[in-house]
Amino acid sequence: MRFFDTHAHYNDEVYDIDREEVLKKIRESGVEYIVNVGYNKVSSIDSINLSKKYDYIYSAIGVHPHDVENETAQDIYNVYNENDNKKIVAIGEIGLDYAFVKDNKLKQIALFESQIELANSLKLPILIHSRDAALDTYNVIKNKRAEYGTLFHCFQPSDDLVRLVLENGYMVAFGGNITFKRNEAFKKYIEQIPLSQIVIETDSPYLSPEPYRGKRNDSSNLDIICKKLSEYKGKDVEEVAEIVYNNAVKYFNI
Ligand SMILES: [Zn+2]
Ligand SMILES: [Zn+2]
Repeated sequence: MRFFDTHAHYNDEVYDIDREEVLKKIRESGVEYIVNVGYNKVSSIDSINLSKKYDYIYSAIGVHPHDVENETAQDIYNVYNENDNKKIVAIGEIGLDYAFVKDNKLKQIALFESQIELANSLKLPILIHSRDAALDTYNVIKNKRAEYGTLFHCFQPSDDLVRLVLENGYMVAFGGNITFKRNEAFKKYIEQIPLSQIVIETDSPYLSPEPYRGKRNDSSNLDIICKKLSEYKGKDVEEVAEIVYNNAVKYFNI
């Protein structure tokens, strides 16, 4: 089986001690492509640099809602222009996160909207991070369309979001969280979403699947995530792996 990790952060300092070895192990496990995702200016530049060093790594650049007070879409535009941008395949991760901070919702929405505009002007798809903010995320992307593709990373399904995804043909990425016992409710949603709209991710170094929950994650765990997805879909794991791999190649235009 071959895999495509649509969301990982190998710039993270937890890999500083053994990044080369981890990436080698990942390649040997069948991972053909990785999108390394930025969340502010520095990590976006780090992502670009990783993509220059490794031919199978591509990058996404963007400002995560956590950095709403410090950075703007203009900063990301500058990163795009001032660096080798040939392997930048998306604007992300961008979106709304109300899990910790709720008093800056309007600012988060404005930053999200301005980065959708940036993606459209650069003809790139977006990677959405949405946490405890389903309704506002729904409203933003309904009003401001990402012309070159919309992908929900670490998708947390709800009735409204799944309807939106189905109506608009948006893509969703499932990660280690689908292996958690408390997320068994995802099954009914995963059954509704066609495989043609699904990709997989690890969000490494976070969100390790069971039985590695709490440990440092890496893309070699994609097989566990894919297996769970295939169980929920009632399909052969090889078949599911190939479909979601091809979906990712197509989404990022690689
Ligand atoms: Zn995220
Ligand atoms: Zn992430």
